Amino acid sequence: MTQQRTTKQFEAIRKAIDSAGRPLSIEEIHDVASRTVETVGQRTVYRVVRQLQDEGMIVGVSVPNGSDRYELASIASKHHHHFHCKACDRFFDVDGCPGGLKKMVPKGFVLEHHDLTLSGLCAACA
Ligand SMILES: [Zn+2]
Ligand SMILES: [Zn+2]
Repeated sequence: MTQQRTTKQFEAIRKAIDSAGRPLSIEEIHDVASRTVETVGQRTVYRVVRQLQDEGMIVGVSVPNGSDRYELASIASKHHHHFHCKACDRFFDVDGCPGGLKKMVPKGFVLEHHDLTLSGLCAACA
């Protein structure tokens, strides 16, 4: 029985991340998974998230001064950026990249990577 419940919880958590279409925090994953499986504890969410990370299915999105978000590795592997809504604290994927950042780099430096998070209000909060 325990095994079956664990599998159900695992599936609910995996599905929550899979169908979100945006990076989710542990709390958000917990909220969504709780709608499908009644008995899913936050600790279980942590454990499954770590397991999915180890398996390479999802990756963490580190958030300065906030809790980490998680997104599918298949999405993370495509260069994209995020929008953070200050009102509801949700993260969204945004299309495109301004580019041209090499111009900002001091002479002799080699640019290898950039992170960019836009912030403001999402459509629901604006
Ligand atoms: Zn919002
Ligand atoms: Zn970019």
